[in-house]
Amino acid sequence: MEYEPVIGLEVHAQLLTQSKIFCGCSTAFGEEPNTLTCPVCTGQPGSLPVVNRKAVEFAIKLGLATSCRIAPYSLFERKNYFYPDLPKGYQISMYEHPLAEDGFIEITLQGGKKRIQIIRVHLEEDAGKLKHGETPETESFSYVDFNRTGVPLAEIVSGPDMRSPEEAGEYLRELRAILQYLEICTGDMEKGTFRCDANVSVRPKGQREFGTRAELKNMNSFRHVEKALEYEIKRQIAALEEGEKVVQETRLWDVDQGITISMRGKEEAHDYRYFPDPDLVPLRIEEKWVEEVRKSLPELPSEKKERFIRQYQIPEYDAKILTLTKPSSAYFEETVNRFPEPKTVSNWMMGDLLRELKRDEREIDQCPVTPQHLSEMLSMIKKGTISGKIAKDVFEEMYQTGEHPEKIVRDKGWVQIVDEGEIEKAIERAMEAHPKQVEDFQKGKEKIFGFFVGEVMKQTKGKANPKLVNELLKKRLKGEG
Ligand SMILES: [Zn+2]
Repeated sequence: MEYEPVIGLEVHAQLLTQSKIFCGCSTAFGEEPNTLTCPVCTGQPGSLPVVNRKAVEFAIKLGLATSCRIAPYSLFERKNYFYPDLPKGYQISMYEHPLAEDGFIEITLQGGKKRIQIIRVHLEEDAGKLKHGETPETESFSYVDFNRTGVPLAEIVSGPDMRSPEEAGEYLRELRAILQYLEICTGDMEKGTFRCDANVSVRPKGQREFGTRAELKNMNSFRHVEKALEYEIKRQIAALEEGEKVVQETRLWDVDQGITISMRGKEEAHDYRYFPDPDLVPLRIEEKWVEEVRKSLPELPSEKKERFIRQYQIPEYDAKILTLTKPSSAYFEETVNRFPEPKTVSNWMMGDLLRELKRDEREIDQCPVTPQHLSEMLSMIKKGTISGKIAKDVFEEMYQTGEHPEKIVRDKGWVQIVDEGEIEKAIERAMEAHPKQVEDFQKGKEKIFGFFVGEVMKQTKGKANPKLVNELLKKRLKGEG
């Protein structure tokens, strides 16, 4: 029997506000433990929370950017459970009346586009962080840091619309790009500012009802999400084929073993005894505010991608990669403004530039090669000052040193040789060094031509103009020169 997976994702995005969601404490990262706390975020009796307007505005932005309806009335509720990192004994979240509902995100797949439903977007507060002793003296202790307690999160719940780990990966990348374009979240999975839980089940292909699902946690990179899903789908299919039942539960992704492990039975909403937080008034969001926020929305990734295809006539694949982050799209446009050959710019960015950045785990805004330098180098190729081959070395050098391409080419003596006399001399030397090959060529073994091109390039240290080398070599070998 053929099975198909059904995947839905819950993402928690940490919102980039200066202060926490219900108090004035700073949201700064990396401070001394428990220095960014107050009676409100540590749940002292008698303290009162007040909602952060900026956090609400960010959630409205996100709701609009994902085509959701912004609820005129939403409500903070208490989600009750005990855990040492939760000082109040409950988390303030939204339940029955979320801030935004019923939107979608469009993802691009090989076979075309697909809409993934956004069921809801709501606001909630983060919990603290447990730290288990890391030195021999402290290994039997656990510590808790409340600095993160009360940091605003947006939870984004998708519909069960994805049918493969790749689709899930695409959805996450698109959602993260939206958050980054809106400048409301850094989207860093490794640092935990963008976290993802996955609900996954399998069912026989063609069946309408969903199978029993498991919830996967603890995946802190896109690759791990895809790998965990792949593993879990295989595991569930194998169980069904053995005649076993899939249990509804929460499973942890074990990075080292590459497997998912049962953590606990999945709790139901009623286990949390949600009820409206009596310390917070309901949120009433006026249409006027929503319209103001709507007007402030930037060009979103999908819009920018369509514009790039239209305006710069580049393939969809290029446009998708270049618009993946706001800085990379800005880099592209700045370079094209200076050197108006979009496809050439795109090729260099997607090839050499992104490869170097990836190798060094750098973001494009930390790239030592500026759009100005790249465009200058491309102009030098176009003018014939340097060959395309030498340009690769110039680029590498620019990346290592941050220098101007002109300076590098001048200092290294990499200017292209267009002097026919000089190229002819190199041809002469190459032919003298390989008389046997010359004879073979003249007997009709024309394939040897490429060998001579290589030799001449070697003689000129790659600086000869390839077009001239071809022309002159042809003439000379055929005895016309
Ligand atoms: Zn506080």
